[in-house]
Amino acid sequence: MLGGCSSINAMFYVRGNDYEFDTWGKQGNPSWTSENANYYFRKAENLQDMKLNEDPSVCSAYGHDGPLVVNTFNSSYSETVQNVLDSWNHIGVKKVLDINAAKYQGRGLCAVARAIAANGVRQSTYKAYLSTATDRSNLKIVTNAFVTKILIDDNGQAYGVEFEKNGKQETVYAGKEVIVSCGAVNTPQLLMLSGVGPKNHLLSKNIFCKADLPVGKNLIDHSYIPVIFYGDKPGPDKFDRTYEAMKYLYDKTGLLAQGNIANMGAFYSRNESLSYPEFQSHLIIFPQKSSVDAARAYLNVFKDSVVDSMTRYHENKTMYICTMHVLHPESSGSIYLRSSDPHDHPIIEPNYLGDYRDVRASVDGIKIITKLLDTPYFKSINAFIPRINVPPCSKYEYPSDQYWECYSRHMTHTVFHPLRTAKMGPNPRDSVVNNYLQVHGIDFLRVIDASIMPTQTSGNTMAPTIMVGEMGADMVKNDYFVQ
Ligand SMILES: Cc1cc2nc3c(=O)[nH]c(=O)nc-3n(C[C@H](O)[C@H](O)[C@H](O)COP(=O)(O)OP(=O)(O)OC[C@H]3O[C@@H](n4cnc5c(N)ncnc54)[C@H](O)[C@@H]3O)c2cc1C
Repeated sequence: MLGGCSSINAMFYVRGNDYEFDTWGKQGNPSWTSENANYYFRKAENLQDMKLNEDPSVCSAYGHDGPLVVNTFNSSYSETVQNVLDSWNHIGVKKVLDINAAKYQGRGLCAVARAIAANGVRQSTYKAYLSTATDRSNLKIVTNAFVTKILIDDNGQAYGVEFEKNGKQETVYAGKEVIVSCGAVNTPQLLMLSGVGPKNHLLSKNIFCKADLPVGKNLIDHSYIPVIFYGDKPGPDKFDRTYEAMKYLYDKTGLLAQGNIANMGAFYSRNESLSYPEFQSHLIIFPQKSSVDAARAYLNVFKDSVVDSMTRYHENKTMYICTMHVLHPESSGSIYLRSSDPHDHPIIEPNYLGDYRDVRASVDGIKIITKLLDTPYFKSINAFIPRINVPPCSKYEYPSDQYWECYSRHMTHTVFHPLRTAKMGPNPRDSVVNNYLQVHGIDFLRVIDASIMPTQTSGNTMAPTIMVGEMGADMVKNDYFVQ
């Protein structure tokens, strides 16, 4: 898909924290500092929220001339969002104007979220970067093309790729180098199919190893655990679907111009002295009397009986889902080849909660969310957090740490932020690409996507991936075009 996941994702625009970009630098990647990262974030951005731009601290934090529109979602629940933000503020997670502009401190920060959306229309990296460049003589976009192999000669030099289109196999040759940007799942798959990966694993799939590198190792992701609240407000939706459709067609506003996730984010920590958040929370609101099917569809990764339990008060109460994400997990997983057939999906072993510190963090992160119940807004709507019928957890007292631990173990799934499967670092024993994103031991082959990030970022991963793309592009230009 042109634009990759930026064309289907939830559009939240979160840069992350200076701490992680400086960590990348300290791990032996000297170009990757918070100063450079912020330069490239600004280079990409074009903040279009005029009200926010009136605030000098926010205006100066963002870029304004870049191709990527950053704005504020339209929202039908802005009053409720403000009430929930006030509740976070009440428990010490300070409400600020903008997360990307604020310096993280204390127990945490929360704010209305920024998004890549303009005038009620989704933006993407395709719209920002490619759609405006299609006339360039040095760009040829081939759609519905499936790359099956990177061509690497006996001297370890990459010189092209093989791909399939309309059932036919074709080859393109590189004038200068091959750049792989298939994302944190398919980049390691393609590298391994091409002979770049752990030697023993490649041999087990009858693939000749051209560079023995830890491709697919070190996978990290942000997990997702839903914490369900019920309350008396807001009341039933009064949306008239026909009117909403007309409104959208008329001026791109209304219900159809927003995402299904409310436009706010909370970032928080157990420890006040940390300079980065340990947890993130999103909010999803299903007003009472709205279709239970909508809530069920959203929760469909869970078993039916669990969804029954989660939605059991929804008919007469508004359901709030406060999601909990551990931002810096200790556990890491792996991606392997299922076979040497490029059409076989790779095996993903995420290993969520493999390290007990992540289990403890999940329990603590959930328990901080439950403190929202004791705030004026949630009290005023008679909010409660129901016990969810997860059978293995029924033996534990509710609420107790044992219950939340069991709940975490059974309810964790992905929030789609996989990283680090072609990790950047100086040492080929534990990394795949160097500071300049060039694959160790293979000439003329670079990886520029989410898979190179050496640590998780404090938030959603699209903005950091775009920053990686911006910096990677300058590295390429620097190598070939700057005298
Ligand atoms: C459902 C969902 C919601 C998300 N919500 C958010 C959000 O709100 N905010 C946020 O910041 N992040 C979000 N993310 C994460 C974010 O979108 C990703 O971190 C980011 O897009 C990663 O970019 P990438 O370029 O590394 O990979 P991708 O975006 O995955 O792009 C890889 C591209 O390569 C193509 N490709 C793969 N293999 C081949 C092949 N063999 N041949 C040809 N093409 C190939 C794919 O089709 C795809 O177009 C979300 C992700 C998902 C899936």
